[in-house]
Amino acid sequence: MNLDHDRILSMLEAGKRAPLEETDAALCKAERFEGLAPEEIAMLLQTEDEGHIKRIFDIAGRIKEHIYGDRIVMFAPLYVSDHCVNKCAYCGYRCDNVFDRRRLSMDEIREEVRILEGMGHKRLALEAGEDPKKCPIDYILEVIDTIYGMHFENGEIRRVNVNIASTTVENYRRLKDAGIGTYILFQETYHRETYKEVHMAGPKSNYDYHITAFDRAMEAGIDDVGGGVLFGLYDYKYEVLGLMLHNEHLEKKFGAGFHTISVPRIRPADGADITVARHIPTDEQFQRLVAIIRLAVPFTGMIVSTRETADMRAKLIRLGVSQISGGSAVEVGGYAERERHGSGQFEVSDNRAPEDIVKWLMSEDLIPSFCTACYRQGRTGDRFMQLAKSGNIKNVCLPNALMTLCEYAQDYGDEETLAKASEIILRKLPDIQNEKIRKRVEESIERIRGGKRDLYL
Ligand code: SF4
Ligand code: SF4
Repeated sequence: MNLDHDRILSMLEAGKRAPLEETDAALCKAERFEGLAPEEIAMLLQTEDEGHIKRIFDIAGRIKEHIYGDRIVMFAPLYVSDHCVNKCAYCGYRCDNVFDRRRLSMDEIREEVRILEGMGHKRLALEAGEDPKKCPIDYILEVIDTIYGMHFENGEIRRVNVNIASTTVENYRRLKDAGIGTYILFQETYHRETYKEVHMAGPKSNYDYHITAFDRAMEAGIDDVGGGVLFGLYDYKYEVLGLMLHNEHLEKKFGAGFHTISVPRIRPADGADITVARHIPTDEQFQRLVAIIRLAVPFTGMIVSTRETADMRAKLIRLGVSQISGGSAVEVGGYAERERHGSGQFEVSDNRAPEDIVKWLMSEDLIPSFCTACYRQGRTGDRFMQLAKSGNIKNVCLPNALMTLCEYAQDYGDEETLAKASEIILRKLPDIQNEKIRKRVEESIERIRGGKRDLYL
């Protein structure tokens, strides 16, 4: 992967001067769910035409409705180590920041996972700083093994996505063998000069090694990778195009682009220098860039974390965000800490517990989904993308969402959650168009209500 900086600049220039009819044509293409070429994305990033801007939002809403329906997949982050040898200006874990660092022991991991599973989570994102000595790959593999080895009365963690530093093909092979879900890594910024400025020391300061991480991961056989940008470090238009060129590169070379795209917007953190964040998108710009990504890659999941407020998350969900985290602790050992002391010190904007988020989603007529079926059924990489692009993915997503919601309400919900979930399930069941599948889901739901567990589609 070698990002073509000049191409981005010339696309942005051309985008400014694009005739209205060309931007119209790009919007028509997006309306047919065909995705967009980088040049077309540049036009949408640059347009100042009110009519075009309104259409961008309308089409994003329609794509969201058509492809993702009312479903929102839930997950939680699990921070296992804050040791870090890098000096990233914007991050509280940077190596020159003095605080008591820790790496969870396997007993502590088990404690965190017990709490997370007790909240109903089935999908985790494992997070760790980079420190080859204090947090080597062997430790990460042991953590994954420990998590997958735990079984509870109500099930287990079924998918562990991993967000760790860029590493070697050999290490990626070991992660693949450990059965990880998506390998997630944010480029932070695609702009080389800015990257250099904010990554002041440590292995992560090597832009080329960082940007080629997914090439090595995919070479090692990991076929679901998740990209992202830390919005605020550089011009968001440049960053969106950087992301899209990265996606295009992976599609060309490996047959599948990003499985997910995360859209974190920079937030203050203890010990971090956010004066480097000179380009934080306004709320309006942020919504627009999310909508444009939705148009550009309609079949790629989009993730928003608790960095955003409840209000902003509600808006982004309507524009195409398909996964959200809930009840997140963003500190190592944060879940146990919170259980002991009632609350922790979180730099998050949405502090609601997962059940409150589930209730809120249902009150918005959305279906919280705890589905992890694709990974379990081997629907990854290009197999997943083919199913997604054919439009047939929703034949499994909706049934799985309804079954996992039923399971969640049954196992973790209070009476209000149970009642609301039952009402939603009853109302949404007829939306499963295939009669055979609908029947099967009805039977599964009956079994789940009777305390049995089922296999998902
Ligand atoms: Fe370390 Fe990651 Fe923070 Fe950089 S962003 S200091 S690599 S934890
Ligand atoms: Fe995600 Fe696959 Fe489940 Fe749909 S069926 S929600 S794509 S894991």
